Amino acid sequence: MPWNDTRPWIKDPATRFSSPPDPAILARLHDAHCHPSDDDEFAPETLRGLKTGILCAMSSSLANQEKTREVYKADPDKVVPFFGLHPWFCHPISFDPPDDLPSKEDHYRSLFPPPCDSSADHPSLASVLDTFPDPISISTYLSDMEADLFAHPTSHVGEIGLDRAFRIPNPPHIAADKRNPKHTDLATPLAHQLRIVEAQVDLAIRLGKNVSLHSVRAPQETVDMLRRFKEVKGEGWQRIHVCLHSFGGSAESAKQIQKAHPNVFFSFATIISGRSPHFHKLLQAIEPDRLLVESDFSDTREIDNQIWEVFQEILTALSWTPEEAVSRLEANWKRFVSPIDERPKPKLSNREKKRERKRVDLYVSDEEGG
Ligand SMILES: [Zn+2]
Repeated sequence: MPWNDTRPWIKDPATRFSSPPDPAILARLHDAHCHPSDDDEFAPETLRGLKTGILCAMSSSLANQEKTREVYKADPDKVVPFFGLHPWFCHPISFDPPDDLPSKEDHYRSLFPPPCDSSADHPSLASVLDTFPDPISISTYLSDMEADLFAHPTSHVGEIGLDRAFRIPNPPHIAADKRNPKHTDLATPLAHQLRIVEAQVDLAIRLGKNVSLHSVRAPQETVDMLRRFKEVKGEGWQRIHVCLHSFGGSAESAKQIQKAHPNVFFSFATIISGRSPHFHKLLQAIEPDRLLVESDFSDTREIDNQIWEVFQEILTALSWTPEEAVSRLEANWKRFVSPIDERPKPKLSNREKKRERKRVDLYVSDEEGG
């Protein structure tokens, strides 16, 4: 979720592309990850005027799930809505039941203990606590998310994930004073983020939805999480598709992930991955039938340019002809969003079958226990 392209040469279309955007090609390129729901100036006509094919429109905060519904309504043929809570916005989630929620103060105090002394108050929490949303129970959030996924048959789950770099921004009245930093030093603990990802993945598996996954500065935690999901969630996990969006790991770790997880795709935007000197090496490490393109943009007007830019990078890095590239990327995207019911079941080993039976039994007894 970068949302602002500050590269200085970006405004000059004459020097930006080696060949100008081709509408016939753009129509067959689908944006695997973008954020029109976070576009403050979103206009349905801008969305309808885009040359890019279909957009996977992410949700991010508690508040903008509603906006994703609006974006979808603007052009249901052009938008695949994704519902989910981004790690930047998961601090209001409480794991207590709705009828036994802690006070706002207690919730955030236990989520953000001070670095050294867990019995004292976090020094920077007091100045922002009032501006934080009231805590909401995970079960309330998940039932809203399920209702959205159910009401939108083409929808999937995203953007969810792990982020170890993010700090919660200071509220506007504090950030407006230039002497103050833009961000607090409050970071949502990774364990909290992980529980929220897992709860949303469980819902995705139960409803047969695919997932768009964010991972920033948490490469090992992400690899561990994927491995654990494969182990404990068995066939349900293997049947959903997972897109590692703007994957920031090394070429070597991409290869290892592909070896272990046949259900994983990788999508790239120039805004993030294009800044790395190893971008082409990374593209070359991705199996040709797992590669997707994305803009990761909230400024809807810019999406065509961003998709064209990453398409050109792919042509250069992989020495594909335009036709070869567009055919592959189009087929990959269709596979990524394809409904789970239309997919062959993965072949499970006897050990995996046994584990899967055990998991289903566990889930049922959990439910019976309330
Ligand atoms: Zn994003």
